[in-house]
Amino acid sequence: MSAMKEQQKYTGVCLCGAVHFEFHLTKIKMMYRCYCSLCRKQSGAASNASTFVQAELFQWQQGEQLIQTYVKDTGFTSSFCTKCGSPVPNALAINQKVMWIPLGLIQEDFIPELELNFCVNSKTSWAETHQKLSEFDELPNMLDLENYFEINN
Ligand SMILES: [Zn+2]
Ligand SMILES: [Zn+2]
Repeated sequence: MSAMKEQQKYTGVCLCGAVHFEFHLTKIKMMYRCYCSLCRKQSGAASNASTFVQAELFQWQQGEQLIQTYVKDTGFTSSFCTKCGSPVPNALAINQKVMWIPLGLIQEDFIPELELNFCVNSKTSWAETHQKLSEFDELPNMLDLENYFEINN
């Protein structure tokens, strides 16, 4: 009997499939969302949803040469696939031993136990859940949505 917990392999893929990475962990226990204006632009959403992984547990599988990194004057860094624009992991400028991982790229399902929220003072009003009208199991037909968004042909 081993006291070692089984390591799970997590794989990440960008939107176009050119960039692949993987890391091994017993589980993704902690995640965070950052509500700052920079993470909002970088993610295109109210917050990002990310985690940090030790760089030594992380490996690029393919497409690393397609990655470009934008660094703002403030030091804020965004790496992305140049074919499809997906955000991709990057090593923290302040600590290269830590990889930032955007959770949306991970293919396996997982349930983080814990969540941190950063920059909640910058949170937009639309970050909170609003009245739910309808839930669709799958992507609805655009024609069915025209009334919701007041689009008239
Ligand atoms: Zn891509
Ligand atoms: Zn942020």
